[in-house]
Amino acid sequence: MHSDIRICREHDDPVYTLSATCPECGEQTENSAPAPFDPDDPYGEYRRKLKRRVRD
Ligand SMILES: [Zn+2]
Repeated sequence: MHSDIRICREHDDPVYTLSATCPECGEQTENSAPAPFDPDDPYGEYRRKLKRRVRD
């Protein structure tokens, strides 16, 4: 069965939801599949989070 988990990236830590809109901020959510969100640097945010996590 196809996963319908969606993600809001308006937060420091992404909010996961099954709704088309974020339950916290009301913004439209994106499918959580690894589709590029920012065409300039699709994985920039992810890389920064990884780096921050490593430094922790
Ligand atoms: Zn949100």
